[in-house]
Amino acid sequence: MRMRVFTASLATETNTFAPLFVDRSAFEGGFYCPPGAHPDTPTLCSAPTVAARRRAASEGYELVEGTATWAEPAGLVSQEGYESLRDEILDQLKEALPVDIVLLGLHGSMVARGYDDCEGDLIARVRALAGPHCVIGAELDMHCHLTAEMVAGADIIVAFKEFPHTDFLARAEDLLELCLKTARKQVKPVSAVFDCRGLAAFMTSREPGRSFVDRLLAMEGQDGILSISIAHGFQAADVADVGTKVLVIADGDEAKAATLAKELGLEILRWGQGASPKHYKPEEGIAAALELAKPGKPVVLADRWDNPGGGVAGDSSVMVEALLLHPDVPAAIGAMWDPVAVSLCRAAGVGAEIPLRFIGKAAPSSGRPIDAVVTVTGTTEDLLIPFEQSWVSLGPAAAIRIGKLDIVLASTRAQTFSPPVFTDLGIDLSAKKVVVVKSSNHFHAAFAPIAAQVLYLDSGGPYPPDASKIPYTKVKRPFSPLDPNPWL
Ligand SMILES: [Zn+2]
Repeated sequence: MRMRVFTASLATETNTFAPLFVDRSAFEGGFYCPPGAHPDTPTLCSAPTVAARRRAASEGYELVEGTATWAEPAGLVSQEGYESLRDEILDQLKEALPVDIVLLGLHGSMVARGYDDCEGDLIARVRALAGPHCVIGAELDMHCHLTAEMVAGADIIVAFKEFPHTDFLARAEDLLELCLKTARKQVKPVSAVFDCRGLAAFMTSREPGRSFVDRLLAMEGQDGILSISIAHGFQAADVADVGTKVLVIADGDEAKAATLAKELGLEILRWGQGASPKHYKPEEGIAAALELAKPGKPVVLADRWDNPGGGVAGDSSVMVEALLLHPDVPAAIGAMWDPVAVSLCRAAGVGAEIPLRFIGKAAPSSGRPIDAVVTVTGTTEDLLIPFEQSWVSLGPAAAIRIGKLDIVLASTRAQTFSPPVFTDLGIDLSAKKVVVVKSSNHFHAAFAPIAAQVLYLDSGGPYPPDASKIPYTKVKRPFSPLDPNPWL
């Protein structure tokens, strides 16, 4: 009989401290594809659907697509929002039964009112429906809370390895391959998790993360090791399982998986702060940029802690205020979330000089709104930008100018993944000395080629950058940096 594969996606990253509440409409307005409506290109959290489609014919399985949906990272998801999307997918699965494989595109840090571990809940319900012999595989973002429920419920979990997340499609392909081999009884995956008891994030756009991940990739498929995932964790969440964990999946040998997971976890812990880049205060960052910029090549400053990808608004005015203190410096900043200002600029039209109040509005942590007379220099119905194999919409958008400062305002919260955020609105980045992007590190692959240098900013928030100051109430202790790390 032909193998049957069911696939669906349900994802968001929940910053439980952000006052940006999420309901079903945030998913429908973000990315929502009912069965069969998924585009040919993958998205960050729905790549398993595309990977499964591409191999259906050659592998000879029947693919049943469920709903694929995600919302831009923000605050707590409503109970009704989560339950209605979860049950929609479970109903589709029920219709599709019996199935041999369920492939889920998840994030791993979705928190809803009443559900601290949405993915653990979803996977458990999928297992209850699909039965003990169905192979359940899930792809997660590395910024997840890898819970015992997720690992127990799924046969195979594969997280992104790269930060920036340049490998979401490659990891979906790995997941599919392992699930097919498991269903055909060619491998017997057993998982082991090492809990680092703390936060140990790193970037793969720089050392030591780069070489480390290259080594992980080389280990996979060798000596009985099927898959290695480093769940960096997502610190802006008050949940029990926040923190960095290492997941190793071995072929039938749990002790081998556990030994390697511990070895790799201890290696990451020993890096300590050495794995993080220097973070510049706003003034310090601008000064460094002026020194390092080259003709035709600006310095790109990442405003990491006002990154919509971390669940905050992306309308902090701190860096705009800092740049306005340097009216002689050709600079650009974007994309900042302000749908009201965008609609005013679009109505005024390109070339109009208008008094505008913009940004600094979503929350007290966004800073003060800016009042200025601005020139509208560009508008668009939809600012659509590439991110690896995917396309990301920032909705209607406008570019405004104050002196030598160009500012991109957008209607939809999304990270500044690539230069078209600016260039599609007519801003020439090669004429700038300073370019500030609202992104943590996903911008890196696309911006590094146009930059004299990339530097990271510490603008103070609103994302909580210092875990030792986060008011956690649920995290399992000991947990560094709240406690000394028991492994060190
Ligand atoms: Zn991530």
